[in-house]
Amino acid sequence: MKIGVLALQGAFIEHRRKLEELKIDSFEIRNKKDLNQDMNGIILPGGESTTMGKLLRELYMLESLKSKIKEGLPAFGTCAGLILLAKDIAENPEPHIGLMNISVKRNAYGRQLGSFFTEAEFKGIGKIPMTFIRAPYIVKVDGQVTVLSEVEGHIVAAEEKNMLVSSYHPELTSSNKVHQYFIEKFCEK
Ligand code: GLN
Repeated sequence: MKIGVLALQGAFIEHRRKLEELKIDSFEIRNKKDLNQDMNGIILPGGESTTMGKLLRELYMLESLKSKIKEGLPAFGTCAGLILLAKDIAENPEPHIGLMNISVKRNAYGRQLGSFFTEAEFKGIGKIPMTFIRAPYIVKVDGQVTVLSEVEGHIVAAEEKNMLVSSYHPELTSSNKVHQYFIEKFCEK
């Protein structure tokens, strides 16, 4: 079992730490060549989706990343990673990877006061800690999307086929249950 973590920008080290806790090997994906390594899944971390989208284009990685996920590579996107996977981003003319049937709103909780901590249900896992940092939320789901978490009436975690997303940062909490869920349900198949 080996998981690639997109490491162009953002909170990738924290994801690798969670994987280490679960005794899962991981490596950092920094360029197009790294994408060709064998992996059982990929994590798209939090950070700044506009910057990551720009770097993915400039480094000619966007198309190969998109086709790998389209062909079935399990992908877990947190926060900005969720935005990268969304088919529709409010007020953005075009999506980035754009494969998951969700419409998202960026900085949905406001820019300055948008960071908070809460505990809420994750379908199939139970109550887990959630750290939100200038987070998006999902305003609409379509296709085969299953909603996994809602906080104050907004969808904050979901899955569709080989894709799992959360608008909070499970890698910044004390729990590794969401990472375990990703490994067991998506990557061990
Ligand atoms: N606000 C960021 C964006 O729009 C996401 C924030 C995060 O990943 N913590 O990309």
